[in-house]
Amino acid sequence: MKIKHSRRSPKSSPPNAMRLWADIEDHLTPAFALSSSDRAVYFYLVRRGRLQGQRVLRIAARALAIGTRLSRSTVRLVLRRLGGKRLLRIRKRSYQGYQIEVMLPREIPGCVVPRAHDGKNLETVDFFQTPKYRRAIFTRERRRCFYCLRRLPRGLGVLDHVVPRVRFGRNSYRNLVASCVDCNTRKGRRSTAPSANSTARKSSPRANSAGGASLSVN
Ligand SMILES: [Zn+2]
Repeated sequence: MKIKHSRRSPKSSPPNAMRLWADIEDHLTPAFALSSSDRAVYFYLVRRGRLQGQRVLRIAARALAIGTRLSRSTVRLVLRRLGGKRLLRIRKRSYQGYQIEVMLPREIPGCVVPRAHDGKNLETVDFFQTPKYRRAIFTRERRRCFYCLRRLPRGLGVLDHVVPRVRFGRNSYRNLVASCVDCNTRKGRRSTAPSANSTARKSSPRANSAGGASLSVN
């Protein structure tokens, strides 16, 4: 009797190239402010690795430099930069070259901004005026105050403009956070620089330019 052995393949199914390309152009590049050399290396690695179904790509430093038309020192710098932004992980680095795992935009938390279920582009939606969009902000914040993390039971809590309206802050999901009344009032009184805590929170993925992925609008 023949026994079928299941072998674990190192390959994974390749992503949809068209969608991936759009994700890189529309979301990844602006969200992570990629330079042209960053893009050259990222595209090259995706093309050679993930689009071939290889999650971890083995590549010699020289081949990477030739393939991207960059110098080896630039390639090294770019790899470090992309690694720092968590767009790739260098699994191994040796004499022969690298073993690199490249993350796709949809695998990076907060990178791809989804569309609302009604097909609207979230970038243009006024999140302040419509109840369902207001609720989406509270849900994104897990019903906690963005500044002090206090729980916000239903009916309590307000939407706060990170950049105040008086300073031309928009009603975009990027500029709105859930806040308790105390923090909102304190912030409103203080037109000077925000506290260290709120500055730190502003740089969190929720409120920065890549903050849409956890947003769900039904
Ligand atoms: Zn608060």
